[in-house]
Amino acid sequence: MEYVVNTDDIREVLGEMGGKASVAEIRRKLLEIFTGGEVPSNYSSFITFRATVQRKIENHCPEADDYDGSKSAYFRRVGYGEYELMNKDKTITYTPVGKSTPQTPHRFPKYDNKFVVSESKFDDDYILVDSLDELSAFIEAGYSVRMSTGDSNAPPSLIVSKSLKVDGGKSPEKSLRDELKRLAEEELDSTITTTSRKEQILLRGHLLDKKDSAPCHICGEVFPADLLVAAHLKSRSKCQPKEKLDFDNVAKLMCKFGCDDLYEKGYIFVQEGEVRRNPKRTSTRHMRTYISLLEGRKIEGWLESEKYYNWHHKKVTS
Ligand SMILES: [Zn+2]
Repeated sequence: MEYVVNTDDIREVLGEMGGKASVAEIRRKLLEIFTGGEVPSNYSSFITFRATVQRKIENHCPEADDYDGSKSAYFRRVGYGEYELMNKDKTITYTPVGKSTPQTPHRFPKYDNKFVVSESKFDDDYILVDSLDELSAFIEAGYSVRMSTGDSNAPPSLIVSKSLKVDGGKSPEKSLRDELKRLAEEELDSTITTTSRKEQILLRGHLLDKKDSAPCHICGEVFPADLLVAAHLKSRSKCQPKEKLDFDNVAKLMCKFGCDDLYEKGYIFVQEGEVRRNPKRTSTRHMRTYISLLEGRKIEGWLESEKYYNWHHKKVTS
């Protein structure tokens, strides 16, 4: 298998290892991720490969003898054959109380060497992510991350977002906004469920703004984050590119207790800032009782979202 060592990959794996590691560890990690452990076929031997890794590091390390200052400084030598990332790179760590070995995000070989984030401890909720920036966007959205010490005998543990420390690089807040932008600009094929699921999670994280619970936009009752969804007031697929980026006004938190579906399926709509029952849709007795509780409720932020509500109103009543 071919693989060409480059500085970006070295910076990335060093970040994943907590920002500090020996050349031997960096080299092992690179091979693990990019070639499944074998020496790339474009290097004549293991020694040549290792020497190339070290040279790439030293090119960007001011402590190296032949560092000429023409290349950006990325690495600091902190011991014999040991290097540290300079603080502009991102690291994500968790150090358990009373322990000195920090845990770092774990790449799972069985999941294509991707990281794992989750809302719960159940595998069904696992989401696979590629980069540290994407990972920190999910941390900002309140997701837990599978972390390990690198010791293969200790299984990676799920660490809640509040215990994680994110240093350097883009802040989690900026990572979340950038990730949302990227996903919003992607033409979503409805079959790519992971991408739309990711967008949905990050959008909800953005609207929750670090809170564990929030009121439903329609009924006003407070629910925990996992019972809320970020509902598009105007269908995402019908939004103009600019509207997709209008995160705060085009989407609102709605509860899974009914409001999200009642709105999406058009049993209710919002007109002149008030929740209304859609007379064009037939409903059952229980639904009518529930909808009567919502009817006439004034919703917040009407003006900013008026055009999206009007689009929905027209769609469900025509
Ligand atoms: Zn509700």
